[in-house]
Amino acid sequence: MVDIHSYDFSGKRALVRVDFNVPLDKETLEITDDTRIRAAIPTIKMILDKGGSVVLMSHLGRPKQGFEAKFSLENIVSHISSKLGVEVKFGGDCIGSEAFNMSAGLKSGEVMILDNVRFYKHETTGTESFAEQLSKHGDIFVNDAFGTAHRAHASTTIIAKFFPNDKMFGLLLAEEIKSVDKVLHSNEKPRTAIVGGAKVSSKITIIERLLDSVDNLIVGGGMAYTFVKARGGSVGNSLVENDYLEMANTIVQAAKDKGVNLFIPMDTVIADAFSNDANRDEVSIDEIPAGWMGLDIGAESISACDAIIRNSKIILWNGPMGVFEMENFQKGTVSVANSIVEATANGAFSLIGGGDSVAAINKFNLADKVSYVSTGGGAMLEYLEGKELPGIKAILD
Ligand code: AMP
Repeated sequence: MVDIHSYDFSGKRALVRVDFNVPLDKETLEITDDTRIRAAIPTIKMILDKGGSVVLMSHLGRPKQGFEAKFSLENIVSHISSKLGVEVKFGGDCIGSEAFNMSAGLKSGEVMILDNVRFYKHETTGTESFAEQLSKHGDIFVNDAFGTAHRAHASTTIIAKFFPNDKMFGLLLAEEIKSVDKVLHSNEKPRTAIVGGAKVSSKITIIERLLDSVDNLIVGGGMAYTFVKARGGSVGNSLVENDYLEMANTIVQAAKDKGVNLFIPMDTVIADAFSNDANRDEVSIDEIPAGWMGLDIGAESISACDAIIRNSKIILWNGPMGVFEMENFQKGTVSVANSIVEATANGAFSLIGGGDSVAAINKFNLADKVSYVSTGGGAMLEYLEGKELPGIKAILD
C-alpha cells in the first residue's frame, strides 16, 4: 500500500473508486442528498493538485439487467463538475472502447467518469476478468468508497490485485477508518456508545463488541423494550423481539461482568397507536399499560443520558432513541443529538455512524457540530462488528 499524501501523481491516471450512490428524486432525477459526492471531492482535488488525472468509477442504485437510463451516472455528471469546479467528462459505458479511448487520452488536471459499474452483473459477482478490464483505465488505484468497502465486488476489491504496488486509500476512506478506530481503541475515557433504532437483533454483534471498548452503553429506541420485557417489565404493544429476551439478559450480565455501565431508559413516552396524532402519555418504562406502546424515551431518561454523554470523551452514536420521523416522538433523539454537540464543543470526539442516526443529525442540522459523520451505513456497522472489510483488506494485502 502507498500513502496518498506522499505519492507522486504527476503524469499518472488515478482510477478512483468513489461511492456516488446518491439518492435521486424519482421524477426529476435530481440529487436529493449530495453528501457522498462532497465527501469525495478532497481526494480528487488532491490528485489533480499533484499533477495527476482522475478516472472516477462508481455504482448507482440497483440496476437489474444492463443499462437503465435512471441509473446512469450521466445524470449526476454536471453536479459533480460544479462541486469540483472542474468539468467532468462522461466516458459512457465503463468498459466500452469510447471509455477506454477517453481514459487513454486523459491529460493532467482532467477528470472523467465511467458509467455505472453495476450495469454489468460481473461487478457484484466480483468477476476477475471484468475487474481486469476496469483496471486498464488507470495507472494507480485509489479506493475512496467506504460505503461499499464491505462488498467484495469487482471495482471495490478484486480490482486491487491488478495494482500490486500502486493501490491506496483515498482521504475519505482513511478518515472513516481512523474515526472508528479512535472509538474502538482510544485510551481516552470515559467512552460512551449510544445504540438505538428498531431491533436488537440487527445490532447484537455490535453491542457485544462494544462491551469490550466502552465504559457506558446507552440502549435506546425500539430495542430497549426487549431488555425491559426480559427483566419482567410490562411493555404493552411496544416493539419487542421475543426471540431475543434471553440474549438481552445475557448482555445485561456481560455488561456487569465487564464493568460497563449499561443504561436502559427508566421512562418512556407512550402512544395508543403508531401515529404522530395518537394519544400520548409518559410512564415508567416497566409499566406500559396494555394497548399502549413506547415510541420515545422520557424526560428523566433524557437528563440521565445527557449527564452520561456530557461527561464522555469518546462518543459513538448509532440509531435513534425513538420514532424521530414523527414530530411528537423525536424529543429523545433531538436531545441526545444536542448532548453530543455540547460534549463535542467541550472537547469530546463524536462519531455518528449508521443510517438513521446520520439521517437524524442531518434533519436537525447538527452534522457540522459533531466530530465525524460516517458516509457508510452498512460498511460502518460491519467495521464496528469487527468484520474485516474486503475493500480495505484488498488495499492492505
Ligand atoms: P435502525 O435502522 O435499526 O437503526 O432503526 C431505525 C428505526 O427505528 C427508525 O425508523 C425509528 O423510527 C425506529 N424506532 C426507533 N424507536 C422506535 C420505537 N420505540 N418503536 C418503533 N420503532 C422505533
